[in-house]
Amino acid sequence: MNEEKSKLAIIIPCYNEELVVKSTVETLLKVMDNIIKTGKISEDSYIYLVDDGSKDTTWNIIEELNKTYGRRVIGTKFIRNYGNQKALIAGLQSVRKIGCDCAISIDADLQQDENAIELFIDEFHKGADIVSGIRNDRKTDSFFKKHTAICFYRLMNLLGVKIPLNHSDFRLVSRKGLDILEQYQEEGLFLRGFFHEIGLKTAYVHFNVKPRALGSSKFNFFSLTSLALNGITAFSIVPLRMVAACGVITMLGSFLLALEVLFEKYILHSAPSGWATLVILLAFFGGLQIFCLGIIGEYLGQIFNEVKARPRYIKAKELD
Ligand code: UDP
Ligand code: MG
Repeated sequence: MNEEKSKLAIIIPCYNEELVVKSTVETLLKVMDNIIKTGKISEDSYIYLVDDGSKDTTWNIIEELNKTYGRRVIGTKFIRNYGNQKALIAGLQSVRKIGCDCAISIDADLQQDENAIELFIDEFHKGADIVSGIRNDRKTDSFFKKHTAICFYRLMNLLGVKIPLNHSDFRLVSRKGLDILEQYQEEGLFLRGFFHEIGLKTAYVHFNVKPRALGSSKFNFFSLTSLALNGITAFSIVPLRMVAACGVITMLGSFLLALEVLFEKYILHSAPSGWATLVILLAFFGGLQIFCLGIIGEYLGQIFNEVKARPRYIKAKELD
């Protein structure tokens, strides 16, 4: 059981969100006040905004909000746009330093249902270290985004990264989760995979997605593809393994081909001279080369894992 009155930090990544950031902060302050009244969170809970290098007036609005609400609304601004994952990580690392018992990340457009925040806190009080928001549906997504997202989650599951379908970055992380995140210093960390992989007690809360009220999605085809590729390569070396498997299959195929070619040459006498040798050698060495690339891939996978320097293990409990 976590402590009753917990200090909550709400993290909001913002990229060119001048149209929504003020109303979002005000709505979230109201939500926070209501939860404070129930005694579930402490009065020094706060909102932490990360301006991901916005080119519009987002930061000026954040500064004004800080003037109005003081320590309840604070934040930081990146020197340039680094992307939503880095903004989220910066938020999580910052609130850990500033101090909090749990942190909840939510999008600046408030597409995620802010009323689920109280349910997150309830799960946290019941003992969950991670509370993941699961979207009820993808009605607000475009046809393209909906289908590419589903394909991505299926592919991740196939590659051994068991992230639930319709996962989102709307989640609560306990202090313990924040401490573990600190040990993962790799540059391209994919948060959805990370929080799922570390093995902390996780609860799920389903929420409804609203359409974006103002402004437009800050993700385009390229940033989504880059996020997906990052997610796959940061958590799975299965694609590298597949190279070795392709090599073995090609080599085995070349043996079958050899049998067929020899049959044509010696039984049917229909093969022109030199052709059989050429075809067999070509197929065999083709397969051998891919297989060798696969072996190199295995070592590359090892190097990749070592370079990330992730903690070898994380202890849940210890008796002194
Ligand atoms: N965002 C960010 N940096 C970026 C892109 C997006 O911080 O480079 C923020 C954005 O301001 C929002 C959240 O990430 O708070 C999700 O973005 P958006 O709502 O545009 O994504 P969608 O809902 O379309 O998936
Ligand atoms: Mg959105």
